[in-house]
Amino acid sequence: MNLDLKDRTFLVTAASRGLGFSVAKSLMNEGAEVIICGRTEESLKRATKALGTSAHYYVTDLSKKEDVVKLVRNIADESDQIDGLFVNAGGPPPGTFSNLSDDDWKKAIDLTLMSAVWLTREALPLLKMSNSPSILYSTSISVKQPIDNLLLSNAIRPAVIGMMRTLASELAPYNIRVNAICPGYISTERTEQLMAASESGVENINAKIPLGRMGTPEEFGPVCAFLLSPVASYIHGAILLVDGGLYQGMM
Ligand code: NAD
Repeated sequence: MNLDLKDRTFLVTAASRGLGFSVAKSLMNEGAEVIICGRTEESLKRATKALGTSAHYYVTDLSKKEDVVKLVRNIADESDQIDGLFVNAGGPPPGTFSNLSDDDWKKAIDLTLMSAVWLTREALPLLKMSNSPSILYSTSISVKQPIDNLLLSNAIRPAVIGMMRTLASELAPYNIRVNAICPGYISTERTEQLMAASESGVENINAKIPLGRMGTPEEFGPVCAFLLSPVASYIHGAILLVDGGLYQGMM
């Protein structure tokens, strides 16, 4: 299938590794130009080297509003349009209600919710210039069912879904599509760290997943590239799980 991504430009955030990197790679495999961001120059240099010549990067801490504003202003200095935005950031730290402080909550809200608000607000003028603009919010299976010891994700990510579903109406007049993708367990550094910090080993997690294993970044990126592409032109306001069947609710 031709996703019609050639000569289109996408901003993929938190993409020096993991899920963001897999999305950047999938978009580029389809001929798109990609702008990525992350916190360190070193990791971004490594990532753009692996991605190839049509990848550009900006050092950005997504939990800081001024960084997000600067990121999009820098992009706007180079080009008056982007065709899509993959909204992604590092995950909030694990923890239970009794061991998380107000400071933990505030930091997680900035990283997980406000980064999505700031990115959307800043990128809208550039997206409005595209003939097929779309935003894909990367959240988690935690918006469907809570994950043990990940209270911050369980509590804050559903707010991103609430925003996305509202934007599906508010941005429709501009033809800007919005959707959300919810990974279950995809093998990345994040899942390795969470496994190391948890009592349940990989085998226990795999046993809960109907397909019997975690997903790979290569099974995640192409799905996102499709949702961001003009081929998905009638998919709007959707919430798609990529979880090997882990979520077993009816809705
Ligand atoms: P990862 O740790 O492999 O990669 C995270 C990326 O985010 C890195 O590039 C890192 O540099 C960047 N990053 C972290 N904090 C940042 C910040 N403040 N500003 C800019 N960049 C920042 O993690 P991942 O597995 O790719 O996960 C990405 C997101 O998806 C996380 O929010 C994670 O919680 C969520 N998620 C992942 C899974 C999974 O199975 N991998 C499942 C559900 C949700």
